[in-house]
Amino acid sequence: MPIYEYACRKCGHEFETLVRSGNTPDCPSCRSTELEKKLSVFATATSSAEAAPAGGPCGSCGHPGGPGACALN
Ligand SMILES: [Zn+2]
Repeated sequence: MPIYEYACRKCGHEFETLVRSGNTPDCPSCRSTELEKKLSVFATATSSAEAAPAGGPCGSCGHPGGPGACALN
């Protein structure tokens, strides 16, 4: 299920919510349904970037000799 980010047009509250088809979200702050849907693609991009190997000298094995050091094995 996709998570969408909304901004309330009435009180300006911004929130994320799961949206199922046929289900109208409302503002958790003022219960208004006058919401502006925002793109939430960056949320997925952020999580995939965090899933990438971080900081290891060699991206594939973590060999301290640096990139390519493990290719001789
Ligand atoms: Zn609101």
